[in-house]
Amino acid sequence: METFSAEHAEELAAIVGRERFSTGLSSRELHLRDISFHRGVLPAGIVWPESTEEVARLLAWAYAREVPVTPWGAGTSTEGNPVPTRGGLVVDMTRMNRVLAIRPQDLQADVQPGVPRKELNRQAGRHGLFFPPDPGADATIGGMIANNASGVQTVKYGATRDWVQRLTVVLPGGSVIRTGTLAPKSSAGFDLTRLFVGSEGTLGIVTEATLRLAGIPGHILAAVILFAELVPASEAVAALIGAGLGPAALELLPPALIRLMNREKDLGLAETPSLFCEFHAASAAALEETARLAREICEGFGALEFRHATAEAARRELWRARHEAWETIHRAHPRQETLIVDAAVPISRYPEMVQFAQREVEGQGVTGYVFGHAGDGNLHVVLVGDPADAAQWSRLEAVNQAVVERAIACGGTCTGEHGVGIGKRKFMELEHGEAYRLMRRIKDLIDPKGLMNPGKIF
Ligand SMILES: Cc1cc2nc3c(=O)[nH]c(=O)nc-3n(C[C@H](O)[C@H](O)[C@H](O)COP(=O)(O)OP(=O)(O)OC[C@H]3O[C@@H](n4cnc5c(N)ncnc54)[C@H](O)[C@@H]3O)c2cc1C
Repeated sequence: METFSAEHAEELAAIVGRERFSTGLSSRELHLRDISFHRGVLPAGIVWPESTEEVARLLAWAYAREVPVTPWGAGTSTEGNPVPTRGGLVVDMTRMNRVLAIRPQDLQADVQPGVPRKELNRQAGRHGLFFPPDPGADATIGGMIANNASGVQTVKYGATRDWVQRLTVVLPGGSVIRTGTLAPKSSAGFDLTRLFVGSEGTLGIVTEATLRLAGIPGHILAAVILFAELVPASEAVAALIGAGLGPAALELLPPALIRLMNREKDLGLAETPSLFCEFHAASAAALEETARLAREICEGFGALEFRHATAEAARRELWRARHEAWETIHRAHPRQETLIVDAAVPISRYPEMVQFAQREVEGQGVTGYVFGHAGDGNLHVVLVGDPADAAQWSRLEAVNQAVVERAIACGGTCTGEHGVGIGKRKFMELEHGEAYRLMRRIKDLIDPKGLMNPGKIF
């Protein structure tokens, strides 16, 4: 559905007001793609609701008129997750962008879903608190909940799923439910909060969330550990975790990517396989002791050098460069698109996955950067190419397919953090088997007309 009738447009404008409903081509085109190569079907219109009540009226209207609905956060997904596949209505949540309350004594915040992660952290920071899931991009909390996003600090703090306490959700058809409680624990029935986390907007629209917060660590140390080869670097990962050092970030970077980062930011990093780590502790002495043990472990795996920094500016620069890895790759390959492998495996299988992925990239003769959140077994291969070049793109797809199949055979998953969206749907049956059919039945129960974010996950 790429256009609304005049009657439908009038009805939508009556729900949210004319200034928060648009059928203008530029707004519609802005909601046609996320950062991936996936392209959607032009939506007929965009709405910017400001309350749960408005979202409920919109979803009741859409169900009565059989209009497909796609929720939209910041549009930073990598698998086409917020891209409308059947046109219809895009519900852009960025006007519901307030932090409603922070309760430092309970380590909790109530937020609207359009709050950007960095803004939440700015406000929580005044209380010495922060929201740990960190996908690098300044995503909205609603988009992070819907994708179960995570990032560099997942190895210590877990994914978004671990930080969501309570949700308000508008279901397809417009009814409103609240899941979870404010208590730190509960055994009262099915855990519906976790059903909605990671459901990518296919089961309803989150209009409010209560999140858990953590105390900002008192002492932080960042380290860059240099190795001669990528595989021993990845082998050191399980040992660092197994030793109980509790790294707060543990990232694996290949020389090719470090070379690009140096070229862009003049970082002066050694262009050799490296682990970027961060450790958090309650005292400087504890941090020094952790660094000493980490160095010893890494030297056991042949580390060439262990450089650490506690100065905030140096740390920030390092992580900024890591967070901008995807943009750096794009800038180095202008007019090319990327296909991102996001497989995750048990950490003991990480080294063999790194080796396997490298061999696949070389075997297919494509450009690909193998790196990842090594501490949580999450392997990224950013494959670079031109989707219009069918022969080349099929080689990229072949690498993706082979790495995912290998990850699933190792007991892992096709997506550690980016979600299924459009791109990873083809692996769902392989990964879940009969359980995928149960997911489908749950989807059909909650959304019998199949109108919520159609074409995603299923
Ligand atoms: C440079 C870069 C680095 C990244 N690194 C990481 C990383 O390390 N880890 C990681 O996990 N991700 C990463 N991402 C991907 C992305 O940032 C996350 O997936 C993020 O959670 C998307 O949030 P968003 O606000 O952009 O949501 P969108 O992309 O707009 O939407 C995401 C999904 O949420 C749904 N949605 C949005 N709002 C709601 C709502 N209120 N209710 C229900 N459904 C909703 C959409 O329909 C869609 O399915 C990265 C992206 C970029 C650009």
